[in-house]
Amino acid sequence: MKTHTDNKAGNYKRLVIVSNRLPIYLEKTNEKYEIRQGSGGLVTALAPVLRNRGGLWIGCSLSTDFENFDSLFRDAQKNIGYNLKPVVLTSEEIKKYYYGFANEIIWPLFHDLQSRCNFDPDYWTTYQEVNKKFAHVVFQNTKKDDYIWVHDYHLMNIAQELKTLESSQKIGFFLHIPFPPLDIFLKLPWRLELLRALLEFDLIGFQTMRDRRNFIQCVRTLIKDVAIFGKGQVITIQSRDRKIKVGSFPISIDYKFFSEQTETKEVADCAWYIHENIGDRQIILGVDRLDYTKGILERLKAFEKALIKYPDLKGKVIFIQIVVPSRVDIPEYQLLRTEIEQMVGNINGRFTKYGWVPVQYIFRSINRYELIAHYRTAEIALITPLKDGMNLVAKEYCACSKENGVVILSEFAGASAQLQKGAIMVNPYDVETIADALYHGYTMPKQERQIRMKKLRQGIKRHDIFWWVESYIQAAFTEKLYNFPVLEDYDFATPAKSLNDMET
Ligand code: UDP
Repeated sequence: MKTHTDNKAGNYKRLVIVSNRLPIYLEKTNEKYEIRQGSGGLVTALAPVLRNRGGLWIGCSLSTDFENFDSLFRDAQKNIGYNLKPVVLTSEEIKKYYYGFANEIIWPLFHDLQSRCNFDPDYWTTYQEVNKKFAHVVFQNTKKDDYIWVHDYHLMNIAQELKTLESSQKIGFFLHIPFPPLDIFLKLPWRLELLRALLEFDLIGFQTMRDRRNFIQCVRTLIKDVAIFGKGQVITIQSRDRKIKVGSFPISIDYKFFSEQTETKEVADCAWYIHENIGDRQIILGVDRLDYTKGILERLKAFEKALIKYPDLKGKVIFIQIVVPSRVDIPEYQLLRTEIEQMVGNINGRFTKYGWVPVQYIFRSINRYELIAHYRTAEIALITPLKDGMNLVAKEYCACSKENGVVILSEFAGASAQLQKGAIMVNPYDVETIADALYHGYTMPKQERQIRMKKLRQGIKRHDIFWWVESYIQAAFTEKLYNFPVLEDYDFATPAKSLNDMET
C-alpha cells in the first residue's frame, strides 16, 4: 500500500475528512452488529493516510436505534485505525437537506438537467442549518493544526460556517460531481450565497478542467473585484484579502487492486461461467446506479437501433445491463426503473429468438467478484452517461479488461478527457452514432483493440487513486503551483480518433 502522501505535506498533523456519510456499514454476525469499513475507492485511498497520521472522519451516522451504539463505534475505531465522529440528523433534516436540496436541486442542476429541479426555499434553509450542524461537530472535534478536507455537494457551506465560529484551520473542498456552465448555474436562486460560501475554502478541487472553467466563469460573472492568475492544474483566485487555490484533480481507482483481482480464481470461475452460458457471442456491458443522469434509456434505444441498422449483430451480441438500485424511495427513480424495464421488455419481445435473448437485465447490487468477472469477460463496455463527474466504471473496466476490451464512452463523462485517446467517444444523446460505435466496436480487429486498451490502461495506472490523494494534498500545502502539470481537456474538435491518429 502506498503511503507516500504522508511524506510530502509535513505541515499539518492530522487529516480530518468530512463527508455526508461515514465510510462504514453495519454487519450482523452471530446475532451481533458490528461496524465495518466500506470498500469504495475514496476510503481505500484515504484510510492509509488517516491511519498513519492519526485521522478523523466526520459524517452522518447510521441508525441511532442501537442500545450499544457508542460501544459499536469504539470497537469500529479500534479495528479501522482512525477515529469516526457521527453527526446525527433528524428525519426532517435528512428529508430536506439530503433528499431535498442535495438530490432535488444540486444533483440535477449540476448535471445540466435544470428542468428536474425543485427550488423549494425550505430546502435551502435546512441545507444551511445542517451545514451549520456539521461545522459545529468539526469545530468541537478538531485542533488548530488539523487539515480539514470536505467532500462533495452536500457540504458546500461548511467553510463559511466554520469562519463564523472563528476557526482558523486550513480547509479544502472536493466536488465529486460536475460544476455546471454559467447559464445553468445562474438558475439557482441562491447562486451568489453558494458561490461566496465556496470561496471560503482554501482549496477547491474539481474533477476536470471543464468543471473548473465553468466555476471560474461563474466567479468572474457574479463576484466583483476578483483576480484570477496562474496556469496549469492549479490556479489562484484573489478575492479581497483572500487567495483561494482552484484545481482539477481527476479521481481514479485502485488500479493495482482491480488488475490483480482479475487473476483470482473466484473471478476466473465467475467469468468462465458468464461466457460459458452465451457461447462465442460478444458481451456489451453497462453498469450503472439507477439514475437519470446515466443515460440508460438512451443507451437501450441505441442498442435497439444497432440491431435494426446492423442485422448481422442479431444473435451475435448480448447486452448485459446491470442497474444498482439507488434512491428507490423517490418516485422519479421508481418511474425510471419502470421505463427501463419496459424498454428491456420491448427489445427482448421484438428480437428474441430461440437460444438468444438480446438484453440481460440485472437490477441489484452484485458482489466484487461478479463485477470484476463481468469487466474481465465483456468485449465492449458501453458507458454513456448524459453527464458524469468522472465515471469510475470506465476506469475499473479498463483495469480489469484483458487487453481486448473496447470502451465506448460519453463525451460528457469526466473520464472523457483522460480516456479519449483509446475509447470510441460518443454523444450520449445521439443514438444513431452510438449504434455505429457499437458496430465499430464489434468489428474492431484484435490488434486495434489491444493498442487502444494498452493506452487506456497505462493512463489509469499512472494516475490512480493514490496519485489523486497525493496531488490534492500537495496542492493544499505547496506555494509552487507552477510545478503542477497542465491536464488534458476533452477535445471536441477531433472526436473520432482512428488508429492512425494514435501515436502507438
Ligand atoms: N458498483 C458497486 N456495486 C455494483 C456495481 C457497481 O458498488 O453492483 C460500484 C462500481 O465498482 C463503481 C461505483 O459503483 O466504483 C460507481 O461509480 P461511478 O463513478 O461509475 O458512478 P456513481 O455511482 O458514483 O455516480
